[in-house]
Amino acid sequence: MENKLFIYNTLSRKKEEFKPLNAPHVGLYVCGPTVYGDAHLGHSRPAITFDLLFRYLTHIGYKVRYVRNITDVGHLVNDADEGEDKIAQKARLEELEPMEVVQYFTDRYHKDMEALNTLKPSIEPRASGHIIEQMAVIDKLLENGFAYESEGSVYFDVEAYSKKHNYGKLSGRKIEDLISNTRDLDGQSEKHNSFDFALWKKASPEHIMRWPSKWSDGFPGWHLECSAMSQKYLGEQFDIHGGGLDLQFPHHECEIAQSTGANGKEAVRYWMHNNMITINGQKMGKSLGNFITLSQMFSGENDVLDQPYSPMTVRFFILQAHYRSPLDFSNDALRAAEKGFNRLMTAIATLEKIEPQAASSINVSELKEKCYQALNDDLNTPVLIAHLFDGVKQINALAAKTASITAEDLEALKTLYHEIVYNVLGLKEEQESGNDNQLLDSVIELLLNARSAAKQNKDWATADKIRDDLAAMGIVVKDTKDGFEWTIN
Ligand code: ZN
Repeated sequence: MENKLFIYNTLSRKKEEFKPLNAPHVGLYVCGPTVYGDAHLGHSRPAITFDLLFRYLTHIGYKVRYVRNITDVGHLVNDADEGEDKIAQKARLEELEPMEVVQYFTDRYHKDMEALNTLKPSIEPRASGHIIEQMAVIDKLLENGFAYESEGSVYFDVEAYSKKHNYGKLSGRKIEDLISNTRDLDGQSEKHNSFDFALWKKASPEHIMRWPSKWSDGFPGWHLECSAMSQKYLGEQFDIHGGGLDLQFPHHECEIAQSTGANGKEAVRYWMHNNMITINGQKMGKSLGNFITLSQMFSGENDVLDQPYSPMTVRFFILQAHYRSPLDFSNDALRAAEKGFNRLMTAIATLEKIEPQAASSINVSELKEKCYQALNDDLNTPVLIAHLFDGVKQINALAAKTASITAEDLEALKTLYHEIVYNVLGLKEEQESGNDNQLLDSVIELLLNARSAAKQNKDWATADKIRDDLAAMGIVVKDTKDGFEWTIN
């Protein structure tokens, strides 16, 4: 493989060259949604980040099995070991069967993901469909002495595990600190230590989502499904596990402990975490009540929004930031993303109209190399997009006939933009929504290309007239070294 991809491994806290266990096959597991409400802007980030990874790995020749689960049982309110199941709570409030809630929000999640142009995972397993596999992991953990039964529930024994393995290796937490911080709080709990976590919970009488087991009628703990399902579909060891930074502890730390405790070896080779979307500096989350759902983003129906933003605007907004950087929501940032996306799409359309010349004043292979360098550097999309915009200036120069390109280079440039923009970044033309803005941007670019051509012919009167007429409409044109930039006031 000519592309040397480096990815940041949360385990080692550095960028490592990606070397799959069984090339060309790659196993990728990503924690999916708990389906008790509509997906919000925050959910779009892991979905788009790992869609980008899936697309890029496939693009550079790997055969990827991408598993993303649906959590439909065992995820309790406050992400804790006590309290109501999030799905069951919603079902109670809406007077529905829990699986009606699951089906409804899974369908809506799929609709949002399709709008964002994320590819479907290869397998999308549900926790409730893998109760037997989860019980088998519990059996192994009990056998290996890393779990204990208590009052019909089964808990993971963090202290016993820490004597042989490193609990906290992913999140950097130290078991000694956990012990000294929590020891005196215990006593009445059925757990030996408050930092132990549930593998199986005995269901209280009113709990409707329950399965029979040798321990009790109950349900699996939230962390267990990902260990059981990743192993089932990707094997005891696999390449990449992804998810949001907020899942690093306890969820992923517990996954590592479960898989290592059950199989005696570590399951995951590369852990990747996307950073959060913030709103006014605070994490956007359902439990915090400061979220904007994706369907609200697309329709504009939320007081925080000045206007609707199309799915591709949202996708471009996410991709403009590096996945490991925090990303703050604002209408200004979304509007800038909308404009940037339209500018890129307009340039690709412009490319189709370029006539080849005898010589090139543009270095296409250098541009291509820079684009792949950015992707190979831990999926550095902001740098990649900056290179693509450098190319847009050149495309505009070609349209204005202030630059030239050979037929061969023109083909290479078209291929580069199609592959990177459509196949890897997963952006696409939008027909219905955002149509007006896109059309306006196209018309402005068209006029400005005509103006550049007029300048080239030293027809200053026409060039000035176009600029002044646009200015009268509030469109400010600035000439730059490579062409022009414009803004709407
Ligand atoms: Zn998970």
